[in-house]
Amino acid sequence: MNLILEKKIKYYTKECTKWTTLLVFGILVINLAIIMKYKPVYVVTLSGETIGVVRNKQEIEDAINDYTQNVTEDIAYINLEEMPKFELKFVGKDEQTSEEDVLIAVKDSAIVTYRRYAITLEGEQKAVVYSLDEAKNVVEEIKEEFDGDLDLNIGVVEIYESNYIALESVETAVATINDDALVQEKLKEKEATVNGVTLHLPLSETAKTMISSRFGSRNGGYHSGLDIATASGTPIYATASGTVTYAGWQGGYGNLVIISHGNGVETYYAHCSKIYVSKGDTVETGDLISAVGSTGNSTGPHLHLEVRINGVAQNPQNYLYK
Ligand SMILES: [Zn+2]
Repeated sequence: MNLILEKKIKYYTKECTKWTTLLVFGILVINLAIIMKYKPVYVVTLSGETIGVVRNKQEIEDAINDYTQNVTEDIAYINLEEMPKFELKFVGKDEQTSEEDVLIAVKDSAIVTYRRYAITLEGEQKAVVYSLDEAKNVVEEIKEEFDGDLDLNIGVVEIYESNYIALESVETAVATINDDALVQEKLKEKEATVNGVTLHLPLSETAKTMISSRFGSRNGGYHSGLDIATASGTPIYATASGTVTYAGWQGGYGNLVIISHGNGVETYYAHCSKIYVSKGDTVETGDLISAVGSTGNSTGPHLHLEVRINGVAQNPQNYLYK
């Protein structure tokens, strides 16, 4: 009985070994056939879309890491919204892989955040340049140009931008800020400042005016002011704050207003048709003081404007109506 069982076991073991060997050998042959004819590749997808086929997964992952980490100085960071997915697949041995396409697609999908430098004027962004060095150059050039006496509040701010921003060269950035309305206004104001007194136009900018006679020698004589012809009755405003030291008739001046602005600076408004202030009045810049006329030694309605420093008449056009 035992002998029969033993024989049976021996027989089955032998058969089993035989079939297993055959099976393993068969698989090997099939695998060999596959390897001879096919090759393993990775199909790469990004956001569900196939972007190419690569041979070496690690090589591509390294290249992507390299791209996002070794950024140039002007790039703050590079973000990939999604990492590509790799799926192993066997394809024909002759089939081409497309590593280049995969890298291009990944780079195209990346969000690049650039580091730029904005030049600000009174806290407002005015120009954007490529580097901090360029930004510093812009600030330096503006300070140099205006001798620092315009008292401009210029700053440099680091900004991060994913979208395209038009960059300016140092030269253009300097020009942009020079041309800025605020800078121009400050320049004008500085030019119109005499002994610390900033003069403003005595007539409205919308009034139709014409310079009819300039300061200086005139017909062998001397003209101590600037004649601005305009319609009779046109309002005349104080060019700066001060005290009215004269308001009334004075010979050839006709109706005259004199305002003392301090620091030896005085302004004269002559030939007025009407006077609205009195001696001793305090006026502010832009206060209505009189109206244009043709009183005194005058051939037609105009404002005769004088600017005096310590009693000496200056050319008003050094400051106004340039
Ligand atoms: Zn005059």
